Amino acid sequence: MTTQYAHIGKKSWWSGNVKTLCGLILPPGNAKSVWFPAFVQTCPGCLAVQKNGGK
Ligand SMILES: [Zn+2]
Repeated sequence: MTTQYAHIGKKSWWSGNVKTLCGLILPPGNAKSVWFPAFVQTCPGCLAVQKNGGK
């Protein structure tokens, strides 16, 4: 069982893809990430970017 991270990202309304802060592009049909994690650890990469002010 792999550790699942919850990425912080924005969904592009024009493409449907989700661009995460850590640079991942999640295709619409593959975006199973939990955006409001209750017990899932937030992705360290996303947190680091957010801490730096985000983009
Ligand atoms: Zn991430």
